[in-house]
Amino acid sequence: MAEHFRCGYACIIGRPNVGKSTLLNKLIGQKLSITSKKPQTTRWQLLGIKTATNYQIIFIDTPGLQNRRQSSLNRHMQREIVESLTYVNVIMFVVEALVWKQPEEQILEMIGMNKCPVLLLINKIDKLKNKEQLLPFINSISTKYKFQEIIPVSAITGDNIELTEKIIVPLLPHGLAAFPEDQLSDRNERFFAAEFIREKLTRILGAELPYKISVTIEKYTDKSHAIHIIGSIWVESEGQKKIVIGKNGCNLKSIGERSRKDMEQMFGKKVFLETWVKVRKKWTGDLQALRQFGYET
Ligand code: GDP
Ligand code: MG
Repeated sequence: MAEHFRCGYACIIGRPNVGKSTLLNKLIGQKLSITSKKPQTTRWQLLGIKTATNYQIIFIDTPGLQNRRQSSLNRHMQREIVESLTYVNVIMFVVEALVWKQPEEQILEMIGMNKCPVLLLINKIDKLKNKEQLLPFINSISTKYKFQEIIPVSAITGDNIELTEKIIVPLLPHGLAAFPEDQLSDRNERFFAAEFIREKLTRILGAELPYKISVTIEKYTDKSHAIHIIGSIWVESEGQKKIVIGKNGCNLKSIGERSRKDMEQMFGKKVFLETWVKVRKKWTGDLQALRQFGYET
């Protein structure tokens, strides 16, 4: 059995906002990872599992690399990336079409020591007016590293996404599936409930979103007919709390409503959701608080 089956890890890496999470969702065929116009939405490493009749690919969506702010959060992110690179079978390095700058060079340095094959995915090709512009771009980056393949893709339209999957499979080792075939992720419902709330916060607050914000799930009770969820949104000051709640509670109301809809869709059940905004002072620099929120420091 094992010689007919392949199973392995593919790590998705790239500067924030190049479309890594969108790509993962497209590959899995379901919304697992949250996406946003604002960089840095993915704070956690997330596995997305794709199982077919003769292979299982376990994709790792890494949080974006960030150099400007060296708080505990960012060290956590960088460590997760470096850790993932040590055990993967394939690296999927995502860049945006026609963009190759300092962050891309830094990522190349990070993966430079690795012996595993690297696929360079040039994403967002749907945005190009003239596809011929790609050729000189491909030529110039192909000199930078011995990429296994360079694949122009669009995570939004799905262009070349199946092709990418086909290219990954033979790069994986023979072996049995690591996860049950119906499992799509390593995260549980509580995790996704918190992620949905965090995504709506990002969407609804936009530029007003406090950088240091976190969501925890205080209660998750799955009854036969419905799920009861209580979520807390943690901010650092009374001022931020006011912003999150919004005028007459309008922000918090739409955050709750939209999160609940996503949860009902994913969990396939009616959801009763309560969300509270709470003040926790200076948690991003505070190791103990970070642990309470589930980060390792
Ligand atoms: P990440 O930070 O690398 O995970 O990036 P996201 O997946 O969150 O995507 C960042 C933004 O780019 C979002 O607004 C996406 O909708 C957008 N995006 C991602 N892939 C594509 C693509 O193929 N084409 C276009 N036009 N936009 C994309
Ligand atoms: Mg992301």
